[in-house]
Amino acid sequence: MKTIKCSQIGGGDCPFEVTAETAEEAKAKFGEHAKEAHAEMMAKATPESMQEWNVMFDKVWESTEALAN
Ligand SMILES: [Zn+2]
Repeated sequence: MKTIKCSQIGGGDCPFEVTAETAEEAKAKFGEHAKEAHAEMMAKATPESMQEWNVMFDKVWESTEALAN
């Protein structure tokens, strides 16, 4: 399990965070969150910006230490 904060992946000072087993699971959870909390940002998203976000997310995910549990 890893925990990623919204603020790490472009969410500004948003305090929301996701704990997930896989990057795909975390992305799905952030997707749900973004629809409500970052609707403005989502409205401006393009296929290119989503692709860039995915690449950035994967880097953050990879560089985040897994939680010891
Ligand atoms: Zn957020």
